[in-house]
Amino acid sequence: MAEYKLPISESQFSENFSPIKPLMSVNEAFYESARCLFCYDAPCVTACPTAIDIPLFIRQINSKNDIGAAKTIYDFNVFGYACGKVCPTEVLCEGACVYNHSDVKPIEIGRLQSYATHKAIISNKQFYQQGDPQHKKVAIVGAGPAGISCACELRKAGYEVDVFEERSLPSGLTVHGVAPYKITNEEVIDEMLYLEKQFGYTIFYNTPINSRDDIERIENNYNAVFLGLGLGETSSLGIPGEDLVNVVGAVEWIEQLRLNHYRLFVPNKVIVLGGGNTAMDAAGESARMGAQSVILAYRRSKEKMGAYRFEYDLAKEAGVKGMFDVLPLEILGDDKVTGVKFIRTLIVDGQIKNLPGSEFTEPCDLVIKATGQSKQVELLKMIGGIQTHPNGTIIVNQSFHTTNPKYFAAGDATSGGQEVVNAVADGKKAAKGMTEYLASL
Ligand code: SF4
Repeated sequence: MAEYKLPISESQFSENFSPIKPLMSVNEAFYESARCLFCYDAPCVTACPTAIDIPLFIRQINSKNDIGAAKTIYDFNVFGYACGKVCPTEVLCEGACVYNHSDVKPIEIGRLQSYATHKAIISNKQFYQQGDPQHKKVAIVGAGPAGISCACELRKAGYEVDVFEERSLPSGLTVHGVAPYKITNEEVIDEMLYLEKQFGYTIFYNTPINSRDDIERIENNYNAVFLGLGLGETSSLGIPGEDLVNVVGAVEWIEQLRLNHYRLFVPNKVIVLGGGNTAMDAAGESARMGAQSVILAYRRSKEKMGAYRFEYDLAKEAGVKGMFDVLPLEILGDDKVTGVKFIRTLIVDGQIKNLPGSEFTEPCDLVIKATGQSKQVELLKMIGGIQTHPNGTIIVNQSFHTTNPKYFAAGDATSGGQEVVNAVADGKKAAKGMTEYLASL
């Protein structure tokens, strides 16, 4: 188990958050690519939501055609570099690699992918041309993976595209919400600038679409609108003490960490509430920020956590301790948080039941709530005509068309929260649906 000191400089921060998938050298890429069996009907391809032709790009790397490999990757997934770094490859392509059946380490597909695309980014290799002008305009709300993927496809088809982003940086959770040991801000931004320059869409930063006037403006000026809204703030737990100082939402806290690095103060004792991948990220990051004790508290058993097993193992390696079958009843403190009152739980007929008399208090200085995010319901109400599922996700058809004819949507706002690669795949499919719709106008 690693022990991390409180980082007090950028170099110490970088040391604590050293990449778990570092870039391969030329030699590493050559020898790793040589291990691939170039399978027919390769299961790694089937497991990739963007269906990248993995054996082809690995073969290209092995024949020293790195730029050709990058083109193969980008043809399927414009977030090729980022996905190589942040995808849960252990349960996607690498998890499906045939080598797993022989107890041999699977091919490091993610690292090979980032290796090849990095070559294209640093040499500013231009693969795509903008299509013949269609004289129709699309507004994209949100510069996250779904929005940018959709923008690239629409530009290839010749549509004018403007992207409206409420924050000051592109790529959504890739830059704001992913653990820094997976990908750095610089790496994300390099790929985003590479795409923007190549495809020629315009991003308007610090430009939220959040009023009826904004909506009317884009509806009047654009032929179609794509909503890549992502999810909203961390949901409330509905227990006393949530408004105390040092009780924070996981996505908001991770965003602060990504933007402020070692300057974000993390106290000694941290409790993270939740059992999903965001909880694992927040817990592992707290430990890497030098917290002396990080407890991950989840209301069900370890086996029932929504997080991938490797994410929990990563958090444990950083020093996080799991506490299972416990439910927070109250967050304690006068002004600042001083602890969490829990009760032990039992599962009876599939339902969580509190164990009477089992209450206990766990002291802490920071509570990070990783218990889900709200949906962007207010904006949808303002737009009108967009129906949602009972859980608040936007209803779309197979072309990602919403129930309001002018609007398409994809990404977390329709899925409820998936991986970056799923949002990229869905944004691309939505662009196909939009080109058909725009052609019919
Ligand atoms: Fe190569 Fe593994 Fe994919 Fe086969 S399954 S093509 S060995 S990466």
